[in-house]
Amino acid sequence: MFTKMGDIRENIKILEDNIAEAAEKAGRHREKITVVAVSKTVEPERIREAIRCGIKIIGENKVQEAERKFKQIPEEFEKHLVGHLQTNKAKKAVELFDMIQSVDSLKLAEEVSKRAQQKGKTMDVLVEVNTSGEPSKFGLEPDEVLDFMKQASSLEGIKIKGLMTVGLFSSDMEEVRPCFKRLKSLFDELKGRKIPGIEMRYLSMGMTQDYQVAIEEGANMIRIGTAIFGRRE
Ligand SMILES: *Cc1c(COP(=O)(O)O)cnc(C)c1O
Repeated sequence: MFTKMGDIRENIKILEDNIAEAAEKAGRHREKITVVAVSKTVEPERIREAIRCGIKIIGENKVQEAERKFKQIPEEFEKHLVGHLQTNKAKKAVELFDMIQSVDSLKLAEEVSKRAQQKGKTMDVLVEVNTSGEPSKFGLEPDEVLDFMKQASSLEGIKIKGLMTVGLFSSDMEEVRPCFKRLKSLFDELKGRKIPGIEMRYLSMGMTQDYQVAIEEGANMIRIGTAIFGRRE
């Protein structure tokens, strides 16, 4: 299929306008909101085009796919893993990525910690929370998060930098909004507790369908695929 490269530039412009509008509506500063371009299924040439159009962070959801594609992208960019990570791929993920947004169990946190220490690296991670209650979704239950933080905060080689969620799968934004409210209140609570070794800096929520709502609810990192690269096959 032939897709015009120009589409990406145009898409990013529209996205930027929408982010600015949502930020303004929420009384927030545009500069405080970081965009992660999620490029799963997108080929390297189009990812490079997004980087040329100003994208600084690329998110992928599979370790192997990311490994193959990142090799073909000479430009500098930050690499985030946004999809579920199996412990047997933690070593590779630690090598490839600058941030793992999808840490969803103590076992995985321990494995990432171990692999990062072996590499002499400190891995930035976000803790994924299942705010929608959908069984198909990954993430800790909201009321497991505090205990998790207390246990994971002492792990060497990882630095917890915030929370991530995927909102309810629904086209009704008023059904999605409570997921984001929930994560924001958890974020604020954890921030207030000042747990040593844990930094509550990034609140990663909002995708193509729902990023405006996420921004209204306090997201400072949004993960956008379709609105940048077009619909996935
Ligand atoms: C695919 C994906 C996104 C981006 O989805 P779009 O709806 O295409 O914007 C964001 N976050 C995660 C975890 C994803 O898997």
